[in-house]
Amino acid sequence: MTFPSFSDLILNFSDSIILPVRRAQAPVVYPERSLKIQAINGFKDILPDSVVRWQHIEQRARDIFERFGMQEIRMPILEKTELFVRSIGEATDVVEKEMYTFADKGITMRPEATASIMRAFIEHGLHVQQPVQRLYTIGPMFRHERPQKGRLRQFHQLDAEIIGAVEAQVDAELIAMGQMLLDELGLSVSLELNSLGCPVCRPPFKERLVVYLERISTGLCEDCRRRTHTNPLRVLDCKKPTCRELAQDAPSLLEALCPDCDRHFHEVEEALTRLGIGFSRNRFMVRGLDYYTRTTFEFLTTDLGAQAAVGAGGRYDGLIEQLGGPALPGIGFAMGMERIALLLEQQGDAGLPAVGADIFLAALGPETIAPCSLLAHLLRREGVRAAMDYSSRSLKAQLKQANRQNARFTLIVGTDELARQQGTLRNMASQEQRPVDLSGSAAEQCQRLLRVLRA
Ligand code: ATP
Ligand code: MG
Repeated sequence: MTFPSFSDLILNFSDSIILPVRRAQAPVVYPERSLKIQAINGFKDILPDSVVRWQHIEQRARDIFERFGMQEIRMPILEKTELFVRSIGEATDVVEKEMYTFADKGITMRPEATASIMRAFIEHGLHVQQPVQRLYTIGPMFRHERPQKGRLRQFHQLDAEIIGAVEAQVDAELIAMGQMLLDELGLSVSLELNSLGCPVCRPPFKERLVVYLERISTGLCEDCRRRTHTNPLRVLDCKKPTCRELAQDAPSLLEALCPDCDRHFHEVEEALTRLGIGFSRNRFMVRGLDYYTRTTFEFLTTDLGAQAAVGAGGRYDGLIEQLGGPALPGIGFAMGMERIALLLEQQGDAGLPAVGADIFLAALGPETIAPCSLLAHLLRREGVRAAMDYSSRSLKAQLKQANRQNARFTLIVGTDELARQQGTLRNMASQEQRPVDLSGSAAEQCQRLLRVLRA
């Protein structure tokens, strides 16, 4: 049996190719103008109600990452295809079938962030400024997978990398950072740990594994029979029950590590234990990207069906050199934000900050609109979240609107009241109302209101 080359694959997966418009082969046929245009399957809008959850995740992540001395880096979404082929590996699911590649340009929409960070790191010689770099990024990734709950074609990752440190303590520190984030978000996950060895101990292990896999090949699924020769370690990670069962008797890399990798693995375990972080070994965990060496880990949940991995990562000591950079080690992880957001939602969004207006200005007559809008403007300049409605609708309608905007207070200003230089301030939670003095300049009114709002 022959396997398609990488370029064949690009041509074959025509539905994962984005052809620039000027190169389109057939004329584009637009549906009837009146038909609604919907988002592409696997690409999702994040609507305002959910954005609160996303902002919360991002804020917690930035806060915690920065406690660990991480600095943010932002890279372009498009990279040369070769970057991913050379780092992630040709015989991986991501490169074989999941990449969105522009066929005529040799560029790809990033399926993950580590390779791009390494490219930027090398290109700008970041190690010259600081021997150990701690970098994080947050953003969209693209993979052509079958969309389902917790699995999209555009998804978002929180990605953190420590480059230039070889010590096992650093592995533990990075894992601890991921755990701290999930803890502070109130999510309960389990942590699994494995080692994938290094160029000294992995190749002889692979040979032993291939011998074993060839012996049991008739029981393996078609993918695994193919992987036996392209990427044998991945067979250990197959989710199909028959393959899983057969993998139980496969040789274990954890028992075949070279002395250096073995020591490293034990030091990571000790350091995690010292930091109070629970974990279990999983000798079957093989990450889907080829660049990993030594420590690999996954944060898992049982609450998202088949999409068990909330985050995952590992060490990649040869990657930077492989990409033409200095011989520096590295370790990182990526967390799936969709999955974190789903878990938060399933748990009733505990811990999400309340959002809403500090004050809603209910202007009840045409004459009240101008003074209220000036007051709203001055309040906003003071940092207040001030909302208002310009339509002079009824008090009932405006109070409803204030509630929808989660306003803490509503300032009610009717035409008669305005003539008396007075308004009514309603506490939306207690429904208690009291008169407020609207005499003097708008600036004076604003200062008086500020005192109430900040009390
Ligand atoms: P899976 O086994 O679920 O396919 P993976 O091993 O391909 O995950 P990684 O490449 O390690 O995932 O990416 C890290 C994290 O990004 C995953 O743990 C997951 O939370 C998230 N992730 C990966 N692919 C997707 C996707 N298509 N949609 C949503 N989240 C994803
Ligand atoms: Mg995957």
